[in-house]
Parts: sequence; structure tokens; C-alpha cells
Amino acid sequence: MISLKSKREIELMRDAGRVVAEVLAELRLHCRIGVTTLELSRIAEAKTVKAGAKPLFKGYRGFPGALCTSVNYQVVHGIPGSYVLKEGDIISMDFGAIYKGYCGDGAITVPIGAISLPAANLLKVTEECLYLGIEQMVVGKHLSDVSRAIQSHGESHGYSMVRDLGGHGIGRKMHEDPMVLNYVTNGRGVKLKPGLVLAVEPMVNAGTEETVILSDDWTVATRDRKLSAHFEHTIAVTENGPDILTKLV
Ligand code: MG
Repeated sequence: MISLKSKREIELMRDAGRVVAEVLAELRLHCRIGVTTLELSRIAEAKTVKAGAKPLFKGYRGFPGALCTSVNYQVVHGIPGSYVLKEGDIISMDFGAIYKGYCGDGAITVPIGAISLPAANLLKVTEECLYLGIEQMVVGKHLSDVSRAIQSHGESHGYSMVRDLGGHGIGRKMHEDPMVLNYVTNGRGVKLKPGLVLAVEPMVNAGTEETVILSDDWTVATRDRKLSAHFEHTIAVTENGPDILTKLV
């Protein structure tokens, strides 16, 4: 069941989204050679609590961290820990917060020091996929228009789209209907209406689309161990076009 949000609810979600945006902006500054992924998670949690919000992922189905940290061939859901960031790594940081009963969810993938040209291109194209998907979030279009824009841009660069996971509706709960696929299937999907709020999150792989779950039972990784990138925003469909709730203001 899809719940459409009122204007008042969207403003509450913007407050949650602002916390997410500010946390990710701060994390970007701390992503340096020698920093552990656990340190990043602690920074995220401290800043969230200071803002009067709560990290959304911590304890979710037993997830141990406040932040998902997925390095290099890891796609999503990496557990923050003792891994030390090194020159040439890319790290995806996925963060959610709940504030006054509403959720925000966002992700960025960040380079550590100097990275290879292919890695830099993967980050660029994945972020472009996100914004091309968001551009399609216009009243009267369908969910498949969002999926198609994401998929066609990624695939036109020779990349593959992760199929085992996708974006989602979001509101009082982190995961609501509908699911937002990063590829097209049969059918047009739901019609986009004002008040529909989605977390759109392309996950783009340099090699195979196939993923595996690592032995920690959380981390999703590429089967071929080639790089993967991930960008995410929480966006409301409005009469005036897509409204990104997790952008820095
Ligand atoms: Mg999400």
C-alpha cells in the first residue's frame, strides 16, 4: 500500500532529510587515508544525536552500526569496523535518520586520496544516474520512467545495475511501498502523484550485476569483486516537480 504524504508531512521529512544531508557532508570531510569505518559511524551517530534525531539503521534487524560503510567491491550494507581507509579506495556511506517520527535516507560514494580514472568515472556516472532518475519524478509520469532513466545511463557507459536491491518508498517507516527498481521490467509501474516520497538509490557495478552476501551476513558485494558505487536521495513528488529532501540547504 502506498501512502501519500501531506505538505505538512513533507516538511517534517525535510527536517529528517536535513539531518541526513548534514551528516553525509560532515562524513565527506572525514573520509581520509588512515580513518577507520567505525570512526565514521561514530561521527555520524554523534552528529545525529546532537541534532535531536536518531540513526535509523542502528539495530535495524540487528545491524550493529549507525552508518553503512561499503568499500570498493562492496555494494551496500557494509558494517563499520576496523577497516582503515587507504589511498585509492572508494567508500559508499549510506545513512538514515528518524526525526519527529519521519525518516530520511541518503548515500554518497567518496574517493579516498587519488583514485583510478575508471573508479572516478564509476562515481560520476552513478551520481548522474541518481539525478537523471530524480528528473523523471514528475506528476503523471510512471515509476518505470525513473527506473529507465537510471538503467539506460548506467548501461550506456558499460556498467551493470544491481538487481537484488533497490530504492523504496519512505515516510514514517524507512521501507514503504513501492520498491524503486534500478532497471525496467514489464509494465509502467505506479503513476507518480503529489505526496509520493521515494528513496531513489542507484547501485552501479563496473562488472557483473551479480551480488553475494559476505560471511558477516550483512555486506552485499559484487560477485566478481569489481567496484560498485551507490548514491541516494529522499525525494518528494510535488506539483512543482521533484523536491529533494536530503539535499544540503
Ligand atoms: Mg534506502
